[in-house]
Amino acid sequence: MKKLTFDNRFTHELPADPLDTNARRQVQNACFSWVQPSPVSAPSLVSFSKETAELLGLNEDDCRSNAFLNTFSGNQLLDGMQPYAMCYGGHQFGNWAGQLGDGRAINLGESLNQAGQHWALQLKGAGPTPYSRTADGLAVLRSSVREYLCSEAMHHLGVPTTRALSLINTGEQVMRDMLYNGNAAYEPGAVVCRVSPSFLRFGNFQLFASRKQIDELRLLLDFTIRHHFSTLLDDHQAGSKELYLAWFNEVCQRTVTMTVHWMRIGFVHGVMNTDNMSILGLTIDYGPYGWLDNFDPEWTPNTTDAQNRRYRYSQQPNIALWNCYQLANSLYPLIEDAEPLEAILNNFQASYQDQWRAMMASKLGFKSLQDGDEVLFEQLETLLARVETDMTIFYRCLASNKLTLASFTPAYYQDDLPQDYLDSLQTWLHDYQARLDQDNRSVAERQRAMNAVNPKYLFRNYLAQQAIDKAEAGDYSMVNQLLEVLRKPYDEQTEHAQFAQRRPDWARSKVGCSMLSCSS
Ligand code: AMP
Ligand code: MG
Repeated sequence: MKKLTFDNRFTHELPADPLDTNARRQVQNACFSWVQPSPVSAPSLVSFSKETAELLGLNEDDCRSNAFLNTFSGNQLLDGMQPYAMCYGGHQFGNWAGQLGDGRAINLGESLNQAGQHWALQLKGAGPTPYSRTADGLAVLRSSVREYLCSEAMHHLGVPTTRALSLINTGEQVMRDMLYNGNAAYEPGAVVCRVSPSFLRFGNFQLFASRKQIDELRLLLDFTIRHHFSTLLDDHQAGSKELYLAWFNEVCQRTVTMTVHWMRIGFVHGVMNTDNMSILGLTIDYGPYGWLDNFDPEWTPNTTDAQNRRYRYSQQPNIALWNCYQLANSLYPLIEDAEPLEAILNNFQASYQDQWRAMMASKLGFKSLQDGDEVLFEQLETLLARVETDMTIFYRCLASNKLTLASFTPAYYQDDLPQDYLDSLQTWLHDYQARLDQDNRSVAERQRAMNAVNPKYLFRNYLAQQAIDKAEAGDYSMVNQLLEVLRKPYDEQTEHAQFAQRRPDWARSKVGCSMLSCSS
């Protein structure tokens, strides 16, 4: 653990909250507040990610050490760590919520690895901060298993994401009303150490703009560009409007790319509030997210959002754009010209369409996109939604060498498929085969390409719940087994085929599998 060295650029270069008491408050003109993690009574290691550890220069022995357990449970600080909570605001479910901030996340500092990369380390669930508002600053094992495993699964799926280093059971009991229905109960507490180049969100910029603290807004933006978008400085003058616009465009493009990845694998974030949008275009804040089992574009896992379903699968690109509009509003005081900001936002939609089409072409195994392909994509999505079809399994079946109706049997949640559906699928498969023939690609090559973008293994909602049930009973084996399987989500791994099964019937409407709230 002595190997970890720190270079805390965020706290060195940006304004701190002058108060260092840990009392809940509005924090003005500052990017962060100093705060110490709360000690825990009996920490035990549930799991660590060896790949994330490697990013920091730590090996498996380091991760099994007492120093690791004490550090990443919040009981001990290493030399160079200077813990703090970030100040940010955000739009929650479409409404401006004012100051939010790291209410239960405590940053330890920026670790500098041998390759010269900075990795911010952050404990989630390490106790209250000035931003905890009415809540306790803690996290439960249930939501921590979900965040930990999903971060790593997303990374291995090739989706931009924050990472997770460790999952530690704190030995504390934490009270939660899981469904907000008056049934509060104690659950085991946990801390996840998250790792990312930065945890900055759209909301960090929004809060300064909303308070008309323009000097701080500029400081934060210059810092962000200097350290996280430095290549933009090759072509644009520091502090110039052109630079800020180029930066905004880059943030929009990264957001497009991230959203297209989500659509590719059937991921529904569940809480796309602007405080949960990473400025680096990473998937961040794994809360009541879920995966489409049967392809239902209207589905959201988040019961807190059940009424309006603002964050349902099909709505994600629109919300991503809406969030970029909010970021544009915050930048306006530095640009003072709406037109170029609007041009970038208009480009978002075109860019999304382009990237989505290219992504669909790759899912279907086409060498490249051709005129008319979009008709096939749309027809396919209509078919997938018409009878209960497992999206993930369907795309793996589509890669098979014989495109007969029988090849898709494993993908259906219902036994009796209507004849008119079967006829439509047959017609579609015929057109699809004709399109494949134009590509003149060998079956083996097409299969390889398709199986590299259509995963076999996801951290399915019901698998998460099974791993959680076991972990809550003190058995961490499934958490670690899933971590292992999800390292290679595109490989056949026939010995692990049970984890590629469609959602079992018992999980159809079970809490935790298809229904999740923000309670975590
Ligand atoms: P989320 O919906 O998880 O993104 O959280 C929204 C805001 O609530 C953020 O500012 C979080 O830090 C804060 N928050 C969520 N849960 C807790 C908690 N248990 N204790 C303190 N703050 C929390
Ligand atoms: Mg959040």
